[in-house]
Order: sequence, then structure tokens, then C-alpha cells
Amino acid sequence: MRKPFFAANWKMHKLQTEAQDFMKEFVPEVADLKAVDIVICPPFTALLIMNMAVQNSNISLGAQNLFWEEKGAYTGEIAPSMLTDSGCGYVIIGHSERRSVIGENNTQINRKIKAALSAGLIPIFCVGETLQERENQMAREVVKEQMQEGLKEITFSSRGLVVAYEPVWAIGTGVNASPDDAQEMCRFIRECLSVLYDENTAQDVPVLYGGSVKPANTEQLMLKEDIDGALVGGASLNPSDFAKIVRLGING
Ligand code: PEP
Repeated sequence: MRKPFFAANWKMHKLQTEAQDFMKEFVPEVADLKAVDIVICPPFTALLIMNMAVQNSNISLGAQNLFWEEKGAYTGEIAPSMLTDSGCGYVIIGHSERRSVIGENNTQINRKIKAALSAGLIPIFCVGETLQERENQMAREVVKEQMQEGLKEITFSSRGLVVAYEPVWAIGTGVNASPDDAQEMCRFIRECLSVLYDENTAQDVPVLYGGSVKPANTEQLMLKEDIDGALVGGASLNPSDFAKIVRLGING
């Protein structure tokens, strides 16, 4: 039985004081919720202050990226152990903004997933097609390749991986995938997991939808069988909206 799972991706937003202000409001709003995983992924600079803020709460901490090496001359990069040392249990890997803006490819993403797992971090592995790929009926092909390449030669233990289906055209645009389209692709991701691993693994891994999730569309998306939760960008910056999404998602 999979638990609902909601992750906030703050991207390059919030100074330390803003992160603290968010938590003052958000922590009590979700404090009574038990059967749900809630993860917040702030920028690196807010990790330490957030680590203090999540103590004794039902909220976990995640990072938005990592490098695959443990130490060395890699100016500007961050090692897996630096994330665990800062209180992270999760890390977003393969976000479409890193694929398109920074130019990360499937091979690098695969190395990052391996490094995260070795350090005991749970990857929130993002996959998804562009609008052009969808219009050219290539969505499944693209996502299948991202899954195959990203998870190449990777094993993980039960509950050691989260996959987020994030169609690129729905991220930050205000246009979410329809619940039926999101369900179809989340089911397809589970089929990929079943081929790459086995049916038990496919049923065990939380598969999230991400792309313009907000309180108004959460319930319809979360009613779908293969959507276990959401990776939320813009709407997660507001404590009351993110708390509403988590509550509505649990009921969905
Ligand atoms: C994201 O950053 O992963 C995301 C889904 O953003 P938004 O919710 O703003 O579309």
C-alpha cells in the first residue's frame, strides 16, 4: 500500500528568513497529518535553517540537485554526503529545468541517482516530455528512454525511489495535464518499472504528477489510481496553498 507523497520544489526562491516564515505557518497546518510523506526541497542556502525547522515535525527535507562525486576539485558542486549532513533524506534528480537550462543528460542523471542511493538519499527522479514530443506522439518513447537510461544498472531497496512524471509543457505554465493524461503516463511509468524491475517494485514506488498543481486541481488529479501525490513548484511557495494541496491530496 503506497502512502500519499507531496514534495515542494522551491527552485531558486526564498531567503533564510522567508523559509522560516513559511515554516511558522506551514508546520502547524499539517501537524495532525500522519499517513502522508511531506518533503520540502529548498535551495541549498536554506537547508540548515530548514533542518532546524523540520525537527520534531512530520516533514522531511530534500535538496534540488547533487553531484555524483564525494569530494574533490568540483567548484560549485555539492556532494551527496553534504546533503545528508545538512539533514536531507531526499534529492530531486533530472528536473526538466536542469535538463533544458543546465543541459543535464540521461547519463549524468544516472550517475546522480547512483550517487544519491549510495549516500542513503531517496531520489525524486523526474521524467517527462516536451510539448513538441507530445504533439508528435512521442511522449511514451521519451519517458521510456528517460526511465531506461536514468535507472540503468541501478538497484534500490523498498521505498528507496520516487518517480515524478512532469510534462515539461505543464511546469510553471499554469496549464496542468488533464487527470486522464497524467494517469495514463503515471501508469506507463509503472509499466516501465515492472519491465526494468518487477511487478512488486512497480507497485511499491510512489509515482507523482508535477506541473501546475494547485489547490483547485489537486483533488481531480489525486483521484487517479496511479498518481500517488505531487511534486509542486509555484504553489508550494505559499504555506497555505501547499497545506491545502496536501490535505486535498490525501482525500483524493
Ligand atoms: C516543478 O518545479 O517541479 C513544478 C512542477 O513546478 P510548477 O508546480 O510551478 O509547475
